Amino acid sequence: MLKGENIRKSYGDVEILHGIDINIQPGTITTIIGPSGSGKSTLLRSLALLDPPTSGTVTIDDLTMTFPHDTPIPTELVWPRLTVVFQQLFLWPHLTLRQNAVLPLRSRDIDSPEDRVDQIIKDFGINGLADRFPNEVSLGQRQLGAIVRALALEPRYLLLDEITSALDVEYVAMILERLKTLREQGVALLLISHLIEFARHSGDQIVFLDGGTLVEQGTPAILDNPQSGRLERFLGLVLEAR
Ligand code: ADP
Ligand code: MG
Repeated sequence: MLKGENIRKSYGDVEILHGIDINIQPGTITTIIGPSGSGKSTLLRSLALLDPPTSGTVTIDDLTMTFPHDTPIPTELVWPRLTVVFQQLFLWPHLTLRQNAVLPLRSRDIDSPEDRVDQIIKDFGINGLADRFPNEVSLGQRQLGAIVRALALEPRYLLLDEITSALDVEYVAMILERLKTLREQGVALLLISHLIEFARHSGDQIVFLDGGTLVEQGTPAILDNPQSGRLERFLGLVLEAR
């Protein structure tokens, strides 16, 4: 289980997250929605302990950390069990997409990293792209590369920040199918997404953030029957923007 309790995050004097509680169970898909600047990415970084919360508690299976915390975060207990695909992707520019996915496996005790990566590349049908460098492919294809790299690590918690934003519809459909397969395998997925339709049909839990506050949370039913005026207005704007 991945759990955040009363998560607060400040940069300088400005508090960005105002005490958020979130609970992510294995074998489920949670989708965070909310306006730009509402704190979605900040919450994801806090939960991944990459940019730890200012206060609050994060639990990742048997690791519980309460902040502020004076000892270092035990990275080996977090990654790759919990793996994040960032908006910025962070692919190594001097490595091909395939090499990008193989490199993190080298430091792990894995029999044949190449075979594992090749299988995912094959599943994704991107053989033709895998030997190109990040700057030789489109943004959407780079997003695919970053997802392949994350999947190769076989995380139990996979956190994805707006990764389908530049993908063609066929790729989005393929990735979403793939995410559902991972869920069946017991992986916990946390998505930040503007794909309200996906959240509605495939999400188990929807979390709506606004202004650094968790305004509403529940099953996808809240998308059809929002309890708060803020979510209702947000969904109206999303509809309009389509
Ligand atoms: P979202 O992902 O929902 O668009 P973010 O979590 O990226 O929102 O940002 C929430 C707020 O926190 C924004 O006002 C943003 O400017 C601020 N913020 C994010 N990261 C930093 C940072 N490293 N330093 C200062 N402010 C930040
Ligand atoms: Mg963001």
